[in-house]
Amino acid sequence: MSVVLQALAAAGCAGALLTAVQATRALRDAARRRRSTGEAGARRRREFQSVVDETCRSTRQAALARPQEGPAPAWQGWRQFVVAGKAVEEASDIVTFHLVPQDGRPLPPFLPGQYVTVQLRIAGAERPVVRCYSLSCAPRPDRYEVSVKRVGPPPNRPDLGPGRASGHLHDQVRAGDVLDLQAPRGTFGLDPAAAGSRVVLIGGGVGLTPLLSVAQSLAKLAQAAPGREVWLFHGVRNGAQRLRRAELQHLAAIPGFRVAVCLSQPGPGEAAGPPGDPVTVLEGRLGLPLLSQLLERPDGDFLLCGPGGMMEDLAHGLAEWGVPPEHLHLEAFGPSALPRPAAPAASAAAEGPPLAVRFSRSERTCAWDPSTPSILGLAEAAGMTWDAGCRAGNCGSCAVQVLSGTFQHSRPPGATVPRGACLACIAVPSSDLVLDA
Ligand SMILES: Cc1cc2nc3c(=O)[nH]c(=O)nc-3n(C[C@H](O)[C@H](O)[C@H](O)COP(=O)(O)OP(=O)(O)OC[C@H]3O[C@@H](n4cnc5c(N)ncnc54)[C@H](O)[C@@H]3O)c2cc1C
Repeated sequence: MSVVLQALAAAGCAGALLTAVQATRALRDAARRRRSTGEAGARRRREFQSVVDETCRSTRQAALARPQEGPAPAWQGWRQFVVAGKAVEEASDIVTFHLVPQDGRPLPPFLPGQYVTVQLRIAGAERPVVRCYSLSCAPRPDRYEVSVKRVGPPPNRPDLGPGRASGHLHDQVRAGDVLDLQAPRGTFGLDPAAAGSRVVLIGGGVGLTPLLSVAQSLAKLAQAAPGREVWLFHGVRNGAQRLRRAELQHLAAIPGFRVAVCLSQPGPGEAAGPPGDPVTVLEGRLGLPLLSQLLERPDGDFLLCGPGGMMEDLAHGLAEWGVPPEHLHLEAFGPSALPRPAAPAASAAAEGPPLAVRFSRSERTCAWDPSTPSILGLAEAAGMTWDAGCRAGNCGSCAVQVLSGTFQHSRPPGATVPRGACLACIAVPSSDLVLDA
């Protein structure tokens, strides 16, 4: 522990570390107790959802107010990238791909925190599998970098088999292979040139990836514009799940940068971290008590990306602590990472005759069923196939032009929605609709 305290003291924040770790445990226990009581749990989920919704709204509004965020994608459709390198991370269930454009033309800049959409042709799959992966490097003209975690079957459903795209990327894709990528998208992230004097990056597990891009971009500016305070927190279970150690060490050594890795269940000797390591290694869960003790005040831009439980506790806790919604930016890695509200019932559908959704290219018309989660669900239930990556309004791959009628998105889209289009995975009709699909 003394090494930890020394490291924190060096970072100017020795404060009440023990209290923080103990308080983290207390919060975790309290959270468990709260979750176990049905009504209180439901209330907390509702409160959390309103924080998430408000945050999404504010993030989107902030993005709209800043024209450099959410620009049109740098290219339309798919561009081919060669796998120039494939590196297994220290966390052996994560591999990092270095991707260079096959056409040799320079890559346009992207907003650190954005993701690319990858299309994979997997043997046995009827159609390409489309997935999103955050860019884990600072923008550079010659290559992209993405880190992919292997996804296993849910613990209670081994029969479902492992994740298709991540399994394929881990086991089949080799250096020299070519992948199809869409241009970077998404409004999560930070324009380093416009960042305030304090930035707090909080990543859980592989959720560190978009934050590495932000941190590296800020690091590039650190020499020319010193004085900014950058905190990077990475929460993992134990040392075997740590990611990009050398890179974190490099970041931690930059003046103004503080990097802490929180191990919730450290293995023997892992909690102290090696002597002289500029990265602070803490024992305990990455939660609000720990953050509030170290950060001391809720100032700055907070960027969070991680698993559902961590996001739920932190988004709620940080908002309660006083981080304004416009300074709280959240990224979810897919439909399961954040609780989603049910699709609002289309008001007209509840009273009058069922609404009709016409898929003009397929020449199909379906009656809208208000219990259907989205237009994508309606189309799939009718046997139509659709390109859909994240199914959570984040990747934009299911965007479709609306030829007539009105719709609502059940949550604010994380992707830029082309003018006149809706995202089928989160859209529900509010009148009869005709879609260019
Ligand atoms: C914006 C964004 C950025 C992302 N960035 C990253 C990143 O940087 N790194 C990263 O690793 N991931 C990232 N992801 C997640 C990534 O896109 C994929 O979701 C992830 O790799 C899993 O895809 P898969 O095809 O391997 O798994 P899938 O095939 O989609 O399966 C996922 C899980 O569902 C289970 N499953 C399969 N069928 C069913 C069924 N019928 N019912 C219930 N469960 C089922 C599988 O067993 C598996 O556990 C990101 C996602 C988004 C939206």
